[in-house]
Amino acid sequence: MACQARVTDWENTRIKLGSSWVSFGRLCEGKARKDENLCEKCSYRVSKGCPFTQSRMIHGLLTEEPPKDSLIYGSKAYWKLAEEEGCEPDSEWLEAAKEAQARAERACVSKAWSVQRPASMSKEMGRKKKVVDPPASASDKGTILQTFPKIRTIYEESDKAPEKLPLDKCSIRKEVRGGREVWVSAVGHVFDCDSTGQPGEFICREEVPSK
Ligand SMILES: [Zn+2]
Repeated sequence: MACQARVTDWENTRIKLGSSWVSFGRLCEGKARKDENLCEKCSYRVSKGCPFTQSRMIHGLLTEEPPKDSLIYGSKAYWKLAEEEGCEPDSEWLEAAKEAQARAERACVSKAWSVQRPASMSKEMGRKKKVVDPPASASDKGTILQTFPKIRTIYEESDKAPEKLPLDKCSIRKEVRGGREVWVSAVGHVFDCDSTGQPGEFICREEVPSK
């Protein structure tokens, strides 16, 4: 009779599921010892796992559920990881894992254990949480601010007083017209004289006598 241990090719078939490696079972090629389920080699294997013994341990008999420490496909730890991650390994790996399980079931001399997918998982699998834009800030909600997009300030009037540049004395000069002081430019633009004595508002343009 073939050895009934469920072992793995851990290094060759493992895949990352979240932060842990998972793998799948394979058949032991050994012959079971007389009146026993296990071959010579498997008789000495441990049946308790930790991340470092997954490759050497027996992941249960083909008739049994994998032990709770086992991280192979279909084990309790595997489903827990898949549920936490919200996904399973890629389809190629899953196919290989299912095939391996089918082989194990065929090789089992009595009623084989079969993989039970938790009912809670079938619907949620592969549906990762979608990141959505945060809603409008609480204070804007239900107000007119939510309806209209915010207008970006492109230009803001400076609160600095406009700067007056020193004037070219040749182009503008102070003169008197009709008894009041005005500024007259070289081309005849006449400006009011403001309270500080500087050129103010434009008044009119006068004829410039040609020289
Ligand atoms: Zn064996």
